[in-house]
Amino acid sequence: MNVGFGVAVLISCLGWAAPARSWNAAGHETVGAIADHLIAGTPAAAQVNAILGMELRTASVWADCVKGVSLQDGEFRYTVSARYRECRPFEDAAGQARMVDYVARNSDACHRGGAGHSGTADDAASAVPCHKQYHYTDVAIERDQYVRSEVGTSDHDIVAAITAAVRVLQDRPAPAPFSIKDKREALLMLVHFVGDLHQPLHVGAIYLDPAGHEVDPDRGTFDPDTETRGGNQLLEGHRVLHTEWDDIARDLGPDHLVMSGDADARALPKTAGPPAEWSMAWAGDTLRVSHAVFDGVIFGAENLYQHTWPMTLPPGYAERREALQRRQLVVAGARLAEIVERLFPPPGHRKATGKPRAEEGAAHGR
Ligand SMILES: [Zn+2]
Repeated sequence: MNVGFGVAVLISCLGWAAPARSWNAAGHETVGAIADHLIAGTPAAAQVNAILGMELRTASVWADCVKGVSLQDGEFRYTVSARYRECRPFEDAAGQARMVDYVARNSDACHRGGAGHSGTADDAASAVPCHKQYHYTDVAIERDQYVRSEVGTSDHDIVAAITAAVRVLQDRPAPAPFSIKDKREALLMLVHFVGDLHQPLHVGAIYLDPAGHEVDPDRGTFDPDTETRGGNQLLEGHRVLHTEWDDIARDLGPDHLVMSGDADARALPKTAGPPAEWSMAWAGDTLRVSHAVFDGVIFGAENLYQHTWPMTLPPGYAERREALQRRQLVVAGARLAEIVERLFPPPGHRKATGKPRAEEGAAHGR
């Protein structure tokens, strides 16, 4: 068999089998819409419009839409045109070319073993395209902080991806293995990944042994078979825990939470330190929230054939989940607004990099 074909088959099979890992489109649109609302009328909103030509709400799903690009006969192609309504704004010829270009540049550099890589053996071995790994990290729920040396983190996880996008928006180069073409691409990444960073199962992970007992992957020898992949391997009947947290109720959607969550969004304390380090602090916050995802959940023995574990959720779980989802969506929207406002301050303010505003002219190359 021709090698290129083999790789294409392998990748498309993985693409098909790979579980979903993201707030659903409505969740991302809610985060973007809250941020749009908070920055309305500011210079930051004008900059967003100049760079993206659209609101954050619309832009928020782009990084998931690019998952519609796959390798066919040795060539990357966008193959899901018109399938997802939220992706339509990116499906004209130029938009498809941009998605293909991004995926081609961000598919395999992370498998060449960048410095500091401590990603899971699972992701490296299964050749999950790098850009799909940018959406999450898998820190054990035994931890309280995000630290890059922990199991489940990597130099191309969601925390690193946000930092890379922020650096490009600050006129600095993106660190390897990221390839970020311009500020438009960086902002498209930022708006999506800030949303994902607040989905608890994109950050906190439970590791289980075959008996369904919790294990701490940072103690002793790490066994990749204990990974539950963001809760994608945890099932109640046919319901997947990760999906349960991705899906949001109607009143948490963009047309509702922007107004009902407004006071909470404005009351959120500001983030300290330089913006390139904010994703690490925010990941720690989400990690602590993720502990509650597993409170009272009982796991059974692993189904070794499917590599899944059955689970039983405690009474009242859905209400608890919805309250936490609401909190996380509001916080994500407020933080997206905060970082965009910091990156694009009013004229006269110095940029976060310390460069005078006048030097910012260096185009937003589309
Ligand atoms: Zn995502």
